[in-house]
Amino acid sequence: MTYTAEIIAVGTELLLGGIANTDAQDVSRSLSELGINVFFHTVVGDNPRRMKQAVKIAKSRADIIITTGGLGPTFDDVTKETLAEAFGKKLITNEAEADKIRSFFEKRLPHMKMTENNLRQAELPEGCIVFDNGVGTAPGCAFEAEGKHVIMLPGPPRECRAMLKSCVVPYLKKLSKAEIHSHNIHIFGLGESAVEEKLRPIMECMKNPSLAPYAKDGEVMLRLTAKAASKHEAEEMMSPILEQVCNMLGDIIYGIDTDSLENTVIGLLKEKKQTLATAESCTGGLLSKRLTDIPGASKVYIGGIVAYNEKSKVELLGVDEKLINKYGAVSREVALAMATAVRSKLDADIGVGITGIAGPDSDSSGQEPGTVFIAVSTREADICNQLKLYYDRERIRIGASLNALDMIRRLLK
Ligand code: ATP
Ligand code: MG
Repeated sequence: MTYTAEIIAVGTELLLGGIANTDAQDVSRSLSELGINVFFHTVVGDNPRRMKQAVKIAKSRADIIITTGGLGPTFDDVTKETLAEAFGKKLITNEAEADKIRSFFEKRLPHMKMTENNLRQAELPEGCIVFDNGVGTAPGCAFEAEGKHVIMLPGPPRECRAMLKSCVVPYLKKLSKAEIHSHNIHIFGLGESAVEEKLRPIMECMKNPSLAPYAKDGEVMLRLTAKAASKHEAEEMMSPILEQVCNMLGDIIYGIDTDSLENTVIGLLKEKKQTLATAESCTGGLLSKRLTDIPGASKVYIGGIVAYNEKSKVELLGVDEKLINKYGAVSREVALAMATAVRSKLDADIGVGITGIAGPDSDSSGQEPGTVFIAVSTREADICNQLKLYYDRERIRIGASLNALDMIRRLLK
């Protein structure tokens, strides 16, 4: 059976625009990975009467109702009372949870006095399954009544996410005999709509497995998902599609089930036993930051120099001043000089040089914002690409760092 779900986010703050409903986003994402259809997101304030209305509507159109927020100890936290009442259940103090709350205060918050209010958090609907809150104090819970599954999660996003992963996903997996498995295909160098266009012929006739694109920060991720009786069966269903997608998209795919482009680059550098050094101008160290986000990067990434103005390009890197005067700091010649200089200074196998105009204004040479030169230098050859990134300052810098990573990846492939 295919279940449908509705998420009810409780909190007046959400209605006032004080915070974004990221809990609903997190819950929806987990549910879609489980193959559960989320048809409605509802937001309601901390008001028992309106909450009752929302629950009544959700009951009429969903098999699974998931609430977020309002599990805390204060008077406006009334989610449990309202849901229990809507399903004709009593709230009963769970002694084990009450003990946990007492010891949480003794151990972690010795300077704070626990009030009786805090113990309200241990009152739970009769017969429910208790979800331990590993991050905060309010337990979540789940119960089944009137043919519906009701799940209540705490509001703070950290707590909500942790409980989703450790309690809700296993609970929901048991409801459905089918298992959901997926592969993430990571793409750089083609936009979401272009990827979709290329894959439309196969995507249109697919239901299970399904293939869906997601765009983020200049990259595209395709998620291939199969629902089957076992992992083995799901893999067998996905493998021909995976092969077909890889053939259709070729080398714009930088990894499957990988974390990031920088992770792929560090992996390739290790595999090919190559070392890397960077010289950055307009990205101000962003490329270096991305590379050093990967634990163990020091085995292959020697380091980088941020040479932001002309003086540092000459004094730190040793770029010839005449070159800058002749071609301008944002030029193919200077990018190449930066790449070769940092490679020889740090004795690396590969040197990268990035120089460009992040905007919003252009420089004295009259180059347009978004003009970026990225050079990659090795002992055998040097290459340089010119980019035109028509974005704002932040995205130009992100785009430049990603393009540099992709050039290194392609060189190592
Ligand atoms: P607490 O024990 O902290 O009171 P709670 O389960 O009662 O937790 P709320 O009081 O509703 O949850 O919300 C606590 C905080 O969690 C809010 O101030 C807000 O910052 C965050 N929060 C609540 N709901 C959401 C949501 N849907 N999306 C993102 N953040 C949320
Ligand atoms: Mg609260």
